[in-house]
This record gives sequence, structure tokens and C-alpha cells, in this order.
Amino acid sequence: MARPLIADIDLGALCHNYAVARELAPHSQAMAVIKANAYGHGAVACAKALAAVAPAFAVASLEEAESLRDSGIVQPILLLEGIFDADELARVEALGLWQVVHSDWQLNAVLNYSPARPQTVWLKLDSGMHRLGFDPAAFLDRWAKLQAARDRVQNLHLISHFASADQDDPSQFERQRQTIESVSQQLAAPLCIANSPATLAKPSTHGQWNRPGIMLYGSNPLEGTLPGGLTLRPVMTLRSRLIAVQTLPKGEPVGYGGRWCTSRPARIGVVAAGYGDGYDRHAADGTPVLVDGQRCPLVGRVSMDMLTVDISHLPDAGVGSEVVLWGRGLGVDEVARHCDTIGYTLLTGVLPRVPRRYL
Ligand code: PLP
Repeated sequence: MARPLIADIDLGALCHNYAVARELAPHSQAMAVIKANAYGHGAVACAKALAAVAPAFAVASLEEAESLRDSGIVQPILLLEGIFDADELARVEALGLWQVVHSDWQLNAVLNYSPARPQTVWLKLDSGMHRLGFDPAAFLDRWAKLQAARDRVQNLHLISHFASADQDDPSQFERQRQTIESVSQQLAAPLCIANSPATLAKPSTHGQWNRPGIMLYGSNPLEGTLPGGLTLRPVMTLRSRLIAVQTLPKGEPVGYGGRWCTSRPARIGVVAAGYGDGYDRHAADGTPVLVDGQRCPLVGRVSMDMLTVDISHLPDAGVGSEVVLWGRGLGVDEVARHCDTIGYTLLTGVLPRVPRRYL
């Protein structure tokens, strides 16, 4: 029998979540963000599953876009960080990609390149996140330059990104939103600014396009309920089995460093999953795990290939019992909180040695 750790990917749930993004923003087109191997879910499989409904995709690099084209994806694909080298422009054109322009060197590369047909460019406004983009004062000038280059550029869009659409304190979000509004009003530009939290909870940000990512995979970055009784469904269920059980007396340490010790006689289940698979080594004692559908606390340090759970309250659990590390029945965001991180990192962190099984 093969090692039992597997990531089940529910493509029906992915399509359901995409439909939720559309329902929440019926007047916007939703560009499905499938960078980082679709947040660990498999970009090609996810793109194929969404191909009938998603009018465009977004990725982080030319290589990510190329593998989608190689697999037959024909929709426009936006390079969210644009090119990394002027040499890439010929491939961008050949593959029919859309590109973000966030820096003067990229802008000059575009203006110095002679495409057979004008290219689609998304000019990035730094509205306050201070990561990529032109500040509002420079933006209008760069917009004008690109607009004037009609033989090189067509379909100019304004793109910007929120740093804190998921935070309780709305002040930074509001500042960014107002900055975007003041710039876009001067241009009548098509807008693309809403990520998942903004798609979910900030209708005022819904533009011609939205860019939902994490919500497509069933994680709600806002942790609250969705409007209109809508729900997101987990796409990835990371599952494994117990491969050993230790029956220990009181006072015995478990795992590396003896971080956790039995405070009473205990049955400890050993799960085939570890940080060598992408399960977070920072998982604290008490991180929930499902064994035969029942919640159990993780105890002791996560090792490279295994982790340990206290199954003392489950007399029927034993070697071969089914284990869910996150997914259906146990939200990845809850697990992430116990690891002092966010669902994004757990999902994208599932390593290639974990087989993906598409449902
Ligand atoms: N747009 C950009 C530029 C991003 O960097 C990301 C994610 O990191 C997204 C959209 C999607 O964000 P989310 O996954 O929060 O929906």
C-alpha cells in the first residue's frame, strides 16, 4: 500500500466557490487567481475545471502562464507582476498574455517593443500598499504615455491591490479606496481592484473585473458568514491515516524535544503527514485533527514525515483510521490559527510529494 497521505481536490467545490464570487459581484467579471499552482491545488486542473465559466486567469509568472497554455487554456491570462525581463515580451505576445506594468523599466520595455498587434496592459496604481505600482502623482502621466502608444497598447486598465480589505479596522482600506477613486475618476478607466475579502465584503470595490483568489479554494479570509446565506466549500481535503498507536503511561514525552508529555495514561496516534509534506511545523499542541471524523488534539512537535495526536477518547481508533488534517469537516483557517499563520500558507505549502487526487 502507498503512503496514505493525499490531497483530495474537489473541483465541484471550486466551481461552486467561483459561482459565489460571481453572485456577490454580478456586474463584475471574475478573473480567477490561480498563481502558485492555484494556491497548491494544481493550476492546470483548476483552470480546466473553471475554463467553462472564467473569462480570464491571473498568475505570477510567464512560466505559470506557459504551463496553462501548454495544457490548452485559451483564456486571457494576466501576469500579476508583469515581466521580469524585457526579453519576455516576445513570449507574452506569442502566448497572448495580459501584463501588469508597475515600474518605469517595464513601461519603457513595452514602449520600445513593436508587437504585431497592440497589447493589453494593466497599469498598476500604488494606492497605499506600497508594494508595486505608480504613486497617484506619477500614475496619470504613465497612463497618458501608454494611451498615446496606440500601435503598442490597447485596452488599458487600472489595477490596484488592497493591503487590508480583510482587517477589522477599515481606515487603511478606506484611504486606498479613496485614492483609487480619485485617480480613476480622472480617467474613466476600467477597474480591477477587488481580491477575495473585497469581493466578499466591499461591494464598492467591485469593478469591471475582480480578482478573487483564496475564496475560490474555500477559505474565507474574513472568518464571518457570507451575505445571502452563501457558503464557500473547501476544495482541498488533506487526508491520511494512523500508521501506529502508542499506549503510554502518565509522564511520558512524545516526539522531538519532548515538548508535550502525557499527564495521564494516553493513546497516541501517529499520522503519516509532516513538515516534509507541507504540514506546518509551528502547529501548537491542541491543533485540531479529525480521526475517524472526531476531533483530536495534535500533541508534540510535528516531524518531517509524521505527527502525533492524542486519541485517548477514541477507543475504536487504531492503525488505519482515517485522518483529516484540514478540508471537509475541519476548516484550513482554523488549523492555520493554531499554527500562527493563515490558510493561504498552509494550502500553498503542500509539497509536490503529496499526490493530488481530483474529484
Ligand atoms: N491580486 C493580487 C495582485 C494578489 O497578489 C492576490 C493574492 O495574493 C490576489 C489578487 C488574490 O488575493 P486573494 O487570494 O486574497 O483573493
